Formats: sequence, C-alpha cells, structure tokens
Amino acid sequence: MQTGFIGLGAMGFSMARNLHKAGLLAGVFNRNPVRAAEFCQSAGAPAYRSIEELAENCEVLVICVSADADVLSVINAIAGAKPAGKLVIDCSTVSRDTAVAAAARLQAEDCDFLDAPVSGGTEGARLGQLSIMVGGKAAVFDRAAPVLGAMGQRIIHMGPVGTGQATKAVNQVMAAGINQAVTEAMAFAKSLDLPIDKLIEVVGSGAAGNWFVNHRGMSMVAGDYPPGFKLALHLKDLLICQQMAQTIGGQLPLSQATIADYQRLVETGHAEEDISALYRLKASLFPNKAGSA
Ligand code: NAP
Repeated sequence: MQTGFIGLGAMGFSMARNLHKAGLLAGVFNRNPVRAAEFCQSAGAPAYRSIEELAENCEVLVICVSADADVLSVINAIAGAKPAGKLVIDCSTVSRDTAVAAAARLQAEDCDFLDAPVSGGTEGARLGQLSIMVGGKAAVFDRAAPVLGAMGQRIIHMGPVGTGQATKAVNQVMAAGINQAVTEAMAFAKSLDLPIDKLIEVVGSGAAGNWFVNHRGMSMVAGDYPPGFKLALHLKDLLICQQMAQTIGGQLPLSQATIADYQRLVETGHAEEDISALYRLKASLFPNKAGSA
C-alpha cells in the first residue's frame, strides 16, 4: 500500500516513521521543507515538493496537520490531484463538520475518506501505540487496516464520517479535567513538601493514577514544559468541544474553565508549551510553597 504522509509535526514525524518501518511509506510532504529534509535524512523516504505531486504517487494519504482550515486546504490540494480510487485518512484533531466537509469534497472526486484522530501523545506516536478513533464507511475502514495498524494499537471504528472527531472531542474534554486535577494536586503535593517521585510512584498506580500524572508529573513540578501536546492545540480542541456542546444545548463547565486558564497562559506567552504548563497557574495558588514554576 503506497502511503504518503502530510504534516511532519510532533505527532506526524513519528507516525510517518512507523509507516516507514512497516514498509508502507512511499513519501512525505511538510509545508516547511527543512522538517521534511530532516525526516528524509533519518528515515530515507522521499520528500515531495507539493501535496499534489505526493498524491499522484500514492494510493493512501495520511494527514496530521494543526487545525480545521489547515485540513481543508490540504484536502483541496489533494482533490485537485484527481485522486479517484484513493483513500485519505485525516489524523488531525478538528471539528466533526470539517470531517464531513472533507469527505464530501473528496467523494466528489470518487476518493474515500476516514476521520481518524488519535490519542496517546508524542510517546504513543513514537511507540506506534496510539489509540485511533475512526469515522467512515466500514469497508473503507477495513481497507485502511494495515496503515492504521502501523501507527496505533487500539483502533476502533466508531461509525460514519465525523464520529471519529466526535469521539476525540469527548477525549479532549476528559483530558481537560485530568489536567486540572493533576496540576492542582501536584501543586498541593509540592506545598506539602512531599517527595514527588515517591508520590507519583504510589498514587500513579492507585485508583487516581492516570497517564498524565505518570508522564508529566515530575516535569511539571520541576517547571519544565516541553511540548508534548501544545497548549494552543488543546485550546483549539476545547473551543471545538464548546461549540459542539452549544449546538446541542449543553454545557461543559470544566472545559470552559480550562479555556479561560489556557487563554491566560497564551496571553502571557506560553502557547507553545505542553498543556502541563497549567501548573504555572496552580502553583500561584500556593504562593509560599509550590514554587514559582
Ligand atoms: P505540530 O507539532 O504543531 O505540527 C503541525 C504540523 O502540521 C506541521 O508539520 C505543520 O507544518 C503542519 N501544518 C500546519 N498547517 C498546515 C497547512 N496549512 N498546510 C500544510 N501543513 C500544515 O502539531 P502536532 O502536535 O503534531 O499535532 C498535529 C495534530 O494532531 C493536531 O490537530 C493536534 O491537535 C493533534 N494531536 C496532537 C497530539 C500531541 O500530543 N501533540 C496528540 C493527539 C492529537 P510546518 O512544519 O510547516 O509548520
């Protein structure tokens, strides 16, 4: 299955590398050619100068770019390359409406589409252990199995186009709550002068344990927030979730509070940090003890 990859960011670089390891990668495209050259040097797959050229040379195209407008512009470029009979898999996190629009644009060119957002962070991407939530026709999902299997471990077909993104929206609401709980608890732990490594070892494997405390607990308390999952990207996702909830007449108070916190952090120059930078605000709740972070 000749597969092309578009978007070699924090996630895409490792996902493309795993496709290469599985013998599926035919080529890559990245908007910034320096990053594409870096990939080629380390993995050996060719970098194409345009999305159209990559699309012409592949049967399957995987996309992992930032936001809704970016996905739609990539889809437009693919649609312009006469992609009849091909398959496009979008692993970016965007709105359900964008997934539906992308599928319709490609269907007009007789090209299949799956929305397949991922969860598991940069570590999951590197290890090929992502959870992948997929929307699209069952037969198309079956066709995509080798490609998805090279990047993920738990791959679930959720239903028609858009259900992958709807599932990811639920995931992001949950991630907001976990971030709030873990950053607040860790600032509290630091203020109690507890040994953080031991605390994570015992709490992280009990009923309150979770991926985030185990992978980001030590670094956040040390005031270290390398991305990871960029705060600006989670903010983008929560705004999508908020809009989806409003559309169905509901509310997401925890996400609402997280949006406000992230906006404060963006305004003070922390947009490119990992979402664990929320610890900065929580540390300020314990001014005498939790450190400046
Ligand atoms: P990132 O490191 O910021 O990389 C974004 C990638 O998209 C870059 O390769 C960028 O190219 C490309 N891009 C952006 N706009 C583009 C456009 N208009 N045309 C072509 N390429 C474009 O982001 P990331 O962390 O890899 O995240 C990618 C997606 O996965 C996002 O939707 C994010 O929400 C989702 N996600 C991220 C994580 C995580 O832990 N990081 C986890 C799950 C899901 P340039 O290099 O030229 O800028």
